[in-house]
Amino acid sequence: MCFYKRAYIVTYNGEFIGYSSSKTKLQERINSYIENGNNDNDNLAYVDIDVLPTYSMTFLKRNIETNDDDIYNAVISAGITYYKYFAIQLNGEDKYFVSKYPEAEQVMSKLKEKESNNIDNVKIVERYDTNLASFTPIDDCVTGLFEEKPKNKYNGRVEHVASLGMDMIEPAQGIITSRFGIRRRDNHKGLDIANSTGSAIRAAASGTVTYAKYNSGGYGNLVIISHGNGIQTYYGHNSRLLVSEGETVEQGQQIAAMGSTGISTGPHCHFEIRINGVAQNPQNYLYKGR
Ligand SMILES: [Zn+2]
Repeated sequence: MCFYKRAYIVTYNGEFIGYSSSKTKLQERINSYIENGNNDNDNLAYVDIDVLPTYSMTFLKRNIETNDDDIYNAVISAGITYYKYFAIQLNGEDKYFVSKYPEAEQVMSKLKEKESNNIDNVKIVERYDTNLASFTPIDDCVTGLFEEKPKNKYNGRVEHVASLGMDMIEPAQGIITSRFGIRRRDNHKGLDIANSTGSAIRAAASGTVTYAKYNSGGYGNLVIISHGNGIQTYYGHNSRLLVSEGETVEQGQQIAAMGSTGISTGPHCHFEIRINGVAQNPQNYLYKGR
């Protein structure tokens, strides 16, 4: 009869933590935990354990218990668990978290499909953290991130609409034959409204006539009205002018008759709105949605 059994004295961080009956089995369990955690979380990346226990062989009296389970628990409780998941960022800021990369990819592809305006600013970032984030379903991420493209059927550019600080009325009745910004020979600075020769052209707002004569630059018979605060309106291609320079006009007052003078292929009013000399899209203010 042997009164001793082979065992291992286990120390951790220099402290005695127990006796192990099998150094190999215990260390395998610990290694498996480091690699897989408790296998209870899909997002577990790895477990960080600063130091491993040290073992030294000994012979224990038969009546002294080994305590491998306690040793195991003591070691793994010192470990730090890291989770892996994915952040979806907008402009470098975390917006949502998803568990797996394919989910993040789906959010991206759905945003692309919907032509979200901010698609270039959305990024997927891999995360390792000791805390698991709360995850958002794919469709909720898409809804939360989606940004509508600004509607501009004229030139596709994002346009800042400056305030005129006044109401204007439509200076001519007719059909719109050419819009602002569309390039043909050059960048169209105004809106063309076509109707029959002689149709009334009216002041879009009250102001002072600062130009009322033939313009050889292509406008033909042109009226320019200054409305104050740097705002001007242009009315081109008229057949007749009914106002003269320096005259004050009321909103809606007829200032000219429609024509086809200057560079023009048919009777129409070339209408411009300028703010501090810069032509604006008239359809931001008038003839909206036409
Ligand atoms: Zn025009």
